[in-house]
Amino acid sequence: MIKISKFGGSSVADSRQFQKVKAIVESDPDRKYIVVSAPGRLSSESSKITDLLYLLDAHRQYHVDASVLTKMIADRYGEIKNALQIDYPVEEELEAFFSKYKKMSQAEIVSRGEYFCARLMAAYLGYDFIDAKDVICFNHDKTVDFEKTSEALRRQMIGHPRFVFPGFYGADENGRIILFPRGGGDISGAVLARCMEADIYENWTDVSGFLTADPRIVKDPKPITNITYSELRELSYMGAGVLNEETVFPVRDSDIPIHILNTNRPQDPGTVIRERIEEKGPPVTGIAGKRGFTSIFIYKHNMSGEIGYIRKVLSVFEKYGVSIEHIPTGIDSFNLVVNEQDVEEDLYAILNEIRQQYEPDEIRTESGLAMVSTVGRSMSNTPGVSGRLFSALGDNDINIKMIAQNSDEINITICVEDKDFKKTIQIIYDTFIREENA
Ligand code: ASP
Repeated sequence: MIKISKFGGSSVADSRQFQKVKAIVESDPDRKYIVVSAPGRLSSESSKITDLLYLLDAHRQYHVDASVLTKMIADRYGEIKNALQIDYPVEEELEAFFSKYKKMSQAEIVSRGEYFCARLMAAYLGYDFIDAKDVICFNHDKTVDFEKTSEALRRQMIGHPRFVFPGFYGADENGRIILFPRGGGDISGAVLARCMEADIYENWTDVSGFLTADPRIVKDPKPITNITYSELRELSYMGAGVLNEETVFPVRDSDIPIHILNTNRPQDPGTVIRERIEEKGPPVTGIAGKRGFTSIFIYKHNMSGEIGYIRKVLSVFEKYGVSIEHIPTGIDSFNLVVNEQDVEEDLYAILNEIRQQYEPDEIRTESGLAMVSTVGRSMSNTPGVSGRLFSALGDNDINIKMIAQNSDEINITICVEDKDFKKTIQIIYDTFIREENA
């Protein structure tokens, strides 16, 4: 089995976290290809090494003495090396780096965070080190050249059956270091997984995967063990996200599952994300919601007979750069649901323009709305789910202002008043998840 195991910043923050990583790696002989981030935050008072390196670069640009900063960085790596007696001269290597960083690019300086971490981890695990700059090959537009990257990886892997690889950076064809966007260690792992045609991409972090609802709203929500990318997209859009789209594209395209796991609780099952899941799951995979919406109601006599009316009204929003979240329509009326923040400044100008140009018979707004999405791949073709949802909310006096369900039937989104937001999520949770598991 080809497994890529990526450990994020919190998993490699200090010597104790390094020990946990070692125990995880040693517990499975398939964990041969390891990707690491730079050491992350230890507590709310401490800093991410990557942030310190960005600061170091700012000191370089403004010619400010950086000795306090270089000591902070050296202390973090020194702690790991000394506590674990790792046979890698990190102090000397850092010394050499600090003596020449003023001549380096920002990307090169910042990339040293993962570089030194991977060096230490490789020595600690007894694995080889493969440098990302010799493998991940960027095009001019900063996209990854997968063909060249796969080829380089094949070459580098000869004689290195087990390796540690620094995340977050690669190089262009001239050997200049290029960074992925912040948090991009996840992308490096996904690129490797794709190039190696991995069976699974393990992403070790500090949470045990996704939860079925926000724990600030629902007490002890059940974890999600399996989810499809489409379900995740729906839930993330509504505010439940931890994984960004960019991270998943290299593995999603190749149909490689991602397994989100917790370094601090390796016994937890975590969440597996994949393109398709054949077996039928529970009707609801997860619930998520967002607050702060405004609805604009527009009534135009005989609108149904006037082709293009909705498009014309929408063009006003487009002109003001406002994105539309939902458009529930009636026969001669429709609602446009938008993010309150997006129309904060221009709402009256937009309404005026619609009034003057398109002469609706009625136009009114309502703010203080919230949207709640109930998401589940198994909802499609299962009669009765929306029936249960609406009767549970009705029984609890929740007034539903709007309803949206797409024909792929994996998401029912409802709009409620803000005061009902939390209660709505709790009721849906109790109806579909707590009761199913009781
Ligand atoms: N170290 C980088 C950052 O903090 C990349 C990563 O952690 O994935 O953004």
